[in-house]
Amino acid sequence: MTTSPIRKILIANRGEIACRVIDTAQRLGIATVAVYSDADRDALHVRRADEAINIGPAEAKQSYLNQQAVLTAARETGADAIHPGYGFLSENADFARAVETAGLIFIGPPASAIRAMGLKDAAKAAMEKAGVPVVPGYHGDSQDPDFLAKKADEIGYPVLIKARAGGGGKGMRRVEHAAEFRSALESAQREGEAAFGDPACLIEKYISTPRHIEIQVFADAHGDAVHLFERDCTLQRRHQKVIEEAPAPGMTEAMRQKMGEAAVAAAKAIGYRGAGTVEFIADASAGLDENRFYFMEMNTRLQVEHPVTEMITGTDLVEWQIAVANGEPLPKTQDELAITGWAMEARLYAEDAEKGFLPATGTLHHLRFPADARIETGVAEGDSLSPHYDPIIAKLVVHGPDRETARLKLEQALEGTQIAGTVTNLGFLVRLIRDRAFVEGVMDTGLIDRELDQLTEATPPSPLAIALAAIQAAGFLDPAHGTDVWDRLTGFRLWGEAHRDVSLIHRNDPLRVRLTGTPEMGFTAHWGDHEVHLSCSTKTGGGLTVRADGHAFPASAAVHAGGVTVFVQGETTDFALPDPLQGSLETADHSDEITAPMPGTIKLVATAQGEAVEAGQPLIVMEAMKMEYTLTAPRNGTIATLNAGLGDQVADGAVLATLVPEEA
Ligand code: ADP
Ligand code: ADP
Ligand code: MG
Repeated sequence: MTTSPIRKILIANRGEIACRVIDTAQRLGIATVAVYSDADRDALHVRRADEAINIGPAEAKQSYLNQQAVLTAARETGADAIHPGYGFLSENADFARAVETAGLIFIGPPASAIRAMGLKDAAKAAMEKAGVPVVPGYHGDSQDPDFLAKKADEIGYPVLIKARAGGGGKGMRRVEHAAEFRSALESAQREGEAAFGDPACLIEKYISTPRHIEIQVFADAHGDAVHLFERDCTLQRRHQKVIEEAPAPGMTEAMRQKMGEAAVAAAKAIGYRGAGTVEFIADASAGLDENRFYFMEMNTRLQVEHPVTEMITGTDLVEWQIAVANGEPLPKTQDELAITGWAMEARLYAEDAEKGFLPATGTLHHLRFPADARIETGVAEGDSLSPHYDPIIAKLVVHGPDRETARLKLEQALEGTQIAGTVTNLGFLVRLIRDRAFVEGVMDTGLIDRELDQLTEATPPSPLAIALAAIQAAGFLDPAHGTDVWDRLTGFRLWGEAHRDVSLIHRNDPLRVRLTGTPEMGFTAHWGDHEVHLSCSTKTGGGLTVRADGHAFPASAAVHAGGVTVFVQGETTDFALPDPLQGSLETADHSDEITAPMPGTIKLVATAQGEAVEAGQPLIVMEAMKMEYTLTAPRNGTIATLNAGLGDQVADGAVLATLVPEEA
């Protein structure tokens, strides 16, 4: 190990990437400072850092994007370096300069290199000069719509209009025909202006059968640069990456070498230092071809998907960043770098795939990750997801000797992930990695869009999930009542009544499940025309073993204020209980407050201040986790205060109304 001049790093970020930087810093014996907004007081990155300092209100503009607040925090805590992570201030040249002006080390490239790549048009011009192949198109100064339309005709449709200041897939419009050009241009300009304060656009040829292949580069302060091979990020939705892998399927040694050299040339041309990614688009209409790849942009920071590169090269890129920031030479030469095996990463988000990938919030009542995958996360069980930031929950990263092994490992890792308390894209990810084109490695960036219906189709809950949810809702799996299900069943039977009816709601569909149980036979669950026989036993160390139809498999079930969530055969199914306040919130019956059982949206307010209400009367309907919940009056009384309006987003536990109880 090196004797490092950097002793204390302030991480100007949050979530998984802040935790990722903390991991390496701690391993290297470097102290860490977390910064946090008001919304992140109790966040994992705050808990994990050696010290933490508040930098302002929840809104990113006033905290994580507030350069002065970050610099002040660094000064106050005596940090000697700042790691910007990705997003936020990471690609802000002014910030990089301000850090250095303050006498601190910026763990990233020089401000001049960030600036050179900051605008896509100028970056392309610089790359053309450096001999790097760029996407054919127009990236000059003129913004005259007539002129740009003429350029689009010359380039040939389809074309892609891009806001030059764009990022994160924003400000891009694909145009098929000349007739649509003007309105698409206007809309890309508007989006560029709104998101980045810059309406200027460039026009590119839309590459057919596009594959996104990027090269990880690294440069040191002594003029040396290497590449750490490619990543394939072709699986995208709205130009945003969903699953990434390394190496790229179908990559030839000749093409890899040519792309690597182009990326290193790009880095050298702008005096780069540190970690960077050169993104290329490859025309895969006739397979990968070393003469058909084009520079798109360079991201002058650590990339979200950097772990797949670490897995195939056996490196720690954050450690490399710190070494380079300390002025050390690159830890390895090009000849010392080699690819071992195959790695894949999936981005797990709190978003509702069935509802157009609407970002979700929630409290992670139950959170289990598989043991045999690398998990990069910024949350732990019990944490809430803030509506203010990216709804990422975790990145799941796997490594295997070959692509198919890695793919199967990722499938297993996704199936082994259990989350209750928010909606996630888990089901979508599982379907995606089972997709035939992906399995065969013959994909392009349009794959997800083309197959979106199948990938996001709502599936009915499996009979096993329903039966298990009923057993859980009836309290038979509640560890508080003893861990042995058989004891519980015996007790159940001794009541004399040989069945119990359980009401469940799945996506607003009510279900009434009749449970019959005998210790010999396990449970029988009946509803409609369905009948399921199953038995469950609790496993040591948590979880259940479920037996049905002569098979035994692991399962799990969690009760929370929102209802019951069951995990069985790789699927997560949420059920609401008709009155979520009953049973799960013990104080509810006696309280004079009507509180939100989970974060959600107010759909209906059926009462008014001063109204006399009766116990059980529906007062407020809210929606969360795709389901509606009716909050009822806990007892007879008068509504004293009402804090819920139609469409309001409310937090977990928010007091929506208070009641003055009726005189007894
Ligand atoms: P990557 O290839 O690393 O995913 P992206 O350009 O998609 O690169 O962005 C990485 C992260 O940076 C995203 O997760 C997003 O949170 C953040 N980000 C990107 N662009 C913006 C932006 N314009 N404003 C705010 N955050 C952004
Ligand atoms: P951002 O800064 O938003 O990441 P990029 O220029 O990197 O913008 O483009 C984002 C994505 O859009 C790429 O990963 C690729 O899938 C697609 N894309 C960009 N340019 C082209 C092009 N010329 N032809 C086809 N697809 C493209
Ligand atoms: Mg990009």
